Order: sequence, then structure tokens, then C-alpha cells
Amino acid sequence: MAERNFRDFTGGLADRAAELRGNPEALEALLKAPEARVMAARAGDPLVFGEDLAWMRLTPEILALAAEPPTLMGRTQAGEPRFALDLTGREEIPPALAALAPEGATAAFLPLREAATKISPEDLALAGCARSLFVWRNDNRHCARCGGAMNSASGGWRRDCAACGHQSFPRTDPVVIMLVERGERCLLARRAGGALWASVLAGFVEPGETVEEAVRREVAEESGQRVGRVDYVCSQPWPFGGQLMIGCLAESLGEAPLKLELEELRDGVWATRAEVARAVAGRGYLQIPPSFSIAHRLLKLWSEGRIGFR
Ligand SMILES: [Zn+2]
Repeated sequence: MAERNFRDFTGGLADRAAELRGNPEALEALLKAPEARVMAARAGDPLVFGEDLAWMRLTPEILALAAEPPTLMGRTQAGEPRFALDLTGREEIPPALAALAPEGATAAFLPLREAATKISPEDLALAGCARSLFVWRNDNRHCARCGGAMNSASGGWRRDCAACGHQSFPRTDPVVIMLVERGERCLLARRAGGALWASVLAGFVEPGETVEEAVRREVAEESGQRVGRVDYVCSQPWPFGGQLMIGCLAESLGEAPLKLELEELRDGVWATRAEVARAVAGRGYLQIPPSFSIAHRLLKLWSEGRIGFR
């Protein structure tokens, strides 16, 4: 299950150049490299020219648009540095950026969910990563310990308190997301007050828990099902909340009736492979999450018989 040739926030730069983040001279050299490029985002929504992520030269004029230095995203296979600039707080697209759009293409801050169906898979992975980093940055303007001002450090991958020295690192919250299988069927449920689609179950891993324990607890809490075997399938960074989605397959034991946690879930159904396959194809009565989500991927793999305990 290693193929990553579709848009799902994975498959970004293989070389994150993490070893250079703490080296000011190396960072300066990367910033000044003629082949260096920068992308920009506002509140996590990437700047696009038409349907492409906007990659721009790092001119002093562009760098001056942001409150903080650009974040080092890494290097391409050809060794070209890539950066991301946080333009959160800007109402309009600065004219200096709009002027860079190729003829016939409009410059826009595109909602990331919309960009997820348009820009290239590699660019989407970088836009997702930038969103997670910028959300963390904007949530950590002040020190959690003393309230002092936090400054960008380590190429944008750390924030240091000017007053007490406390350091903050970008956080990733682990979430288990599991396809619960019972015989030839799998469990799909609709979230209360959420989207219209039906999806697999998911929940945050709690302190002191393993992935398997979190899967068993969440499934029991949300659906009243007892889970036996748990297999890891794949994972996905989810930039809308800074989460790492840990995709699992869970085996429902026994014949306990569905007992949905009604504060969280509206209704649930045990769907067949054929029903899920129709939903993956965009047909049938079930609506499932979009193709860039790990839920969709789990359901697709299961409907094709590529994962499953049977
Ligand atoms: Zn502090």
C-alpha cells in the first residue's frame, strides 16, 4: 500500500533538509539560491495562480509581505530550496503577488479543501504541511508558560519565548480511524451535526493509550461493538486540525447490536462490499468522504478486497 500517486496530503518533498534548519548560514544560502522558490498561504489557504500552487522567487519585496521569515519546507530532488510564507491577516492579495500570475490565470487564496481537488499531489502535500505549521504558529504567538512573545526559530520549525526561553514545537495529534469489519460487511456512520456523508469511525488517541487500545475504546464507545484483531493499514497527515490519521482495520466480535453514541453519531449501517464499491464510484445511496481523505482510501481498499480479515 505504498503507492501515493493521488492527492491526499502525502508525497511532498523527500528531503526536508531538517539538518539545516538550525544553521543560520546554511538557511541564508538556501534563501539566496537563485533556484529557491516560495509558496504563500493565508490562514492555511494556499495562493494559487489559476489551478496551480503559486511558486515565486524570494525577492525582498515578497519577503517583506509577511510578519515572520519564511519556513524552510525542504529541497526538491534537484536540490532546489522550497519555502512557505505565512500571509495570515491579509485581506487582499498583495498587488506584488497578483502581478506574478501568468497571463490568463487569476491569483487567489484557494480554500485548501478546494485546492485538494486541483493542485498537484506534491504541491498539495506541501500546502497541507504549511497549513499545519502556520496554524501552530498563529496559536503560539505567546508563550504558554509566561505569556511572553514567541519568535520564529529553526527555519520556522520552532518558536522560542523571548522572556523565559520556553520552546514550542509544531504538534501533531494522533487520531485513530478504523474500518470496522463484521463478516462481509463494514460499519459506516454519520456524524451528528456534521457532513451528510457516512464514514468509518475515528477518534483521538488519549494519553497512556496504544493505537490498538484507542481503536477498541473508540469503537466500543461510539458503536457498542467489541473489537478483536486490529491491523494497521496506512496513515495520513490531516492538515485541517494538525492531526496524524492512523488508518486501521478492526474486527468486530460477536453479534452485539449497534449502539450508537448519539451525541456524536446520527445513524449507522453495516454496508456490503458492493454497496461501498458503489459509494467509492460516486453512485448508490451512500455518500462517503472525499477522495483526498484516508476514510475514502480505507473504504476503497476494503471494497476492492485489498484489506480485510477474510
Ligand atoms: Zn515564556
